[in-house]
This record gives sequence, structure tokens and C-alpha cells, in this order.
Amino acid sequence: MSTYLPKYAQAAVPRYTSYPPATQFHEGVGALQYRGWLEAINASDTLSLYVHIPFCQSLCWYCGCHTTVPNSSGRALDYVEALKLEIARVGKHVSRAAHVVHLHFGGGTPNYLPAETMAGIIDTLMEQFSFSAETEISVEVDPRSLSREHIKTLTGFGKVRVSIGVQDVSSDVQELINRIQPFDQVRSVVDQLRKAGVDSINMDLMYGLPGQSVDHVRKSASMAASLEPDRFAVFGYAHVPWFKKHQRAIDKARLPEGQERLDQADAARTTLIEHGYEPIGIDHFAKPGDPLFKAYRGGHLRRNFQGYTVDPASALIGFGASSIGSFKEGYIQNEPHIGKYKEVVRSGKLPVVRGVVVSEADRRTRMVIERLMCDFEVDLQDMTDGVRCGTSTYLLVMSALEPLRKDGLVEIDHLVVRATPRGRPYIRNIAACFDMGLSEGEQRFSRVV
Ligand code: SF4
Repeated sequence: MSTYLPKYAQAAVPRYTSYPPATQFHEGVGALQYRGWLEAINASDTLSLYVHIPFCQSLCWYCGCHTTVPNSSGRALDYVEALKLEIARVGKHVSRAAHVVHLHFGGGTPNYLPAETMAGIIDTLMEQFSFSAETEISVEVDPRSLSREHIKTLTGFGKVRVSIGVQDVSSDVQELINRIQPFDQVRSVVDQLRKAGVDSINMDLMYGLPGQSVDHVRKSASMAASLEPDRFAVFGYAHVPWFKKHQRAIDKARLPEGQERLDQADAARTTLIEHGYEPIGIDHFAKPGDPLFKAYRGGHLRRNFQGYTVDPASALIGFGASSIGSFKEGYIQNEPHIGKYKEVVRSGKLPVVRGVVVSEADRRTRMVIERLMCDFEVDLQDMTDGVRCGTSTYLLVMSALEPLRKDGLVEIDHLVVRATPRGRPYIRNIAACFDMGLSEGEQRFSRVV
């Protein structure tokens, strides 16, 4: 059983889906750098594309995504027109010699869009970038609005992975989060996806939701596992009503706290393990034959904005409001405001508003943090052609790690830094010791537990 350690659990540190984290993006990096990074892509690169659809049928109170509920379908179609313009504009700067290995639709609810509209976006991407039969398309779906037409259209493009939001199966919790989703609906969607030949199914579950107990979590994990998806992601609810105003509809008094949250995370973990899933990183699970598990075992699991991945691409290009691109040289983010995003695209410009250049020192830290978040240990010697951590940085890191070592969270064996079993739930705290750019008391990050 994991131990709740308030000092670490309540610390606000990044989820380290990128390094430097998005809070370090600034307006000094924009279209000029972005064009250069796009034009530097060549035949030795592989590409991952991300398309953000910021629309949903209704708002779930726990939602932390960048999304809205449009008051007319015209608003979404208008957005798609801007999206296609952006794709065409970016495509002009990218060599066709670089192949797309992965396309991801996130949101929001990508299947908020009619099937033919989604197909139109994929066609536009195919006109601009080099796809192949091996290109994998993954889509986050809301099972409440996924139609047969969506499934038929998507599988018509080849290899498809689908991620289904399940969260909690009990109606009392579903009422408190404004997401009524009968389990039979999830079962029916899974059946349809399997019949259509979808290659892989992921399910998202949550703990820490209002009114949720360990029993709720166990029941949800067990029922979801009975449908035998290939993977699970289990996320803790982050209550940030000052940042996500709709979360004010959640009664804080109904939220599980402290050890209870950790017990819920443990309940999800043990239930999924009992059902034959292998734990991966901090919050993912996969069947033993799944590529995610093989990558974990082989030490080449990756971490990006979607969480843990086997995506090997050397560059990620983001499309749509708020999307983030990741390149060897740095990160870049699009305008998050939907209206402004459309305006900038229509004015003929690239809709990027902020980013960060990744220095050589950042690149080293990025590698160290990624290995820690994926493997729970890192050999600093392996990260190097020599020792890449300079002596002064190394001493700073070691002194930051010392209290965690004394508390039994981490062991240090020469240049190997390893989370102990007690320290695994606090791997973000351990990673933060390498993050020289992290300011004390940073409030923009979620709590660790
Ligand atoms: S469907 Fe997903 S993206 Fe939309 S409001 Fe609910 S949680 Fe957020």
C-alpha cells in the first residue's frame, strides 16, 4: 500500500509531459522560430501530428481540457475551415520526405464533429504530409456520441487506435460530475469497434472524483477490465476551480483527500493487475503483449503531451487552438482562444503565440526526466557522452535529492538515481530535483497525489 506523505503529495510540480514544462513558454518565441523548425525537418525525421478539436456536447464538471460547448454546429464547422487553412499553411514549410508515423485527434471530443468532417480533416492532412499504410491514427472518443458512421469512416483510413473516456461507472458519481454514461453504452461501443477491426482500445479511468470511494474505483476498474481493452490510463482528478471555472459546480466537501486518494489510486492499480494488466509508469496499464508494455520492458517508452507512448517521431506538429508542437529545437503553442485562433489563421499568419527554445542543458534534463518518469530510474552515465550533468548542476541535484533520500523515496547508487517502491508515487517530486527552472511554491501545477 502506498503511503500518503503530505509534504510531497501536496507539492505542486509539473506532470513532466514536456521539459521545459508549458509554464516556461513565453511570447519571445513565435512564428519566426516555428518556421525555422518546420523547415529544418528532413528525410531523417519522422512526424507525429496532433489535431485539437475544442468542442463537446456538454461539459463534464471535472474536465481539465481546453474545450467549449458551442451554441451552433456552424461554430465548429467554421473552426474546421480555419484548421484546414492552418494545415495547408504549415504543410508548405515541411519536407514531404519526412513520413507521418502517428496522427492523434484530441480535445474536447473529436467525435463531436460529423464523420465526414473528420474525414475532410484527414484528407487535408494527407494532401500536405506523407502518410503510409503504417501511419497510425488515434482518436479520443466520447462513447455517448460515437456513431457507426464515425467508426466506419475512421477504420477506412487504416490502423486505428481509440481511447474511450469511462472515468467511473456508478450513476451516483456520474451525476456529481455531470457525465451520465450507462455502462451498456460503453460495452456496445467496444463491441462495434472490435467488429469494425479497430486495432487497439484504451480506456481512461479516474480517481479522486466527488463522491468516489475505493469501492467505486474498484468496481469501475473491474467492469471496464471485463471488456478487455488493450490499455488503461488512470488519472487523479485535479481540482483547480480558479483555472477551470466549471469545476466550481463540484462540491469540494465531497472530494476524497489525502490517504483516501492514494488508496483509490492503489485500488485501481491492484484491480487492473488482478485482471492481467501490467503497470506502466505512473498511470498507465497494458496487456503483456501490448507495444506499450514491450517498450516499457525494453527501456524505450516515451512520454509526451498525451502521456506514455511508443510514438518514435522526432517532431510533433500541433494543429488547432491551444495545440503544442515539439521539436528538437523547442516547443511552440498555438493561440488557445478559438475566436482569436480563427482570426489569426484567416489573416494569413501562423497562429502561434508562445514557446520555448530548448538549450543543450535543457535537452540533457529532458532526457533525464523522461527516463525517470518512464523507468523510475535513470543512469546519469548513460545519458552522456561523458557525464552530461555539469559538476555544479550535479551537486545541486544531489543536494535537492538528499531530503528525499533520507525519507526513503530515492536511492542513489553512484550515478544511478532510482525511486524506491515507497517513492514511486512521488516520481514527479524526484524528477523536480533535476528541474533547475522550477520556482518554489509554483501554483500553476496540479498536486502530486
Ligand atoms: S467529454 Fe471530455 S473533453 Fe468534453 S467536457 Fe467531458 S471530459 Fe472534458
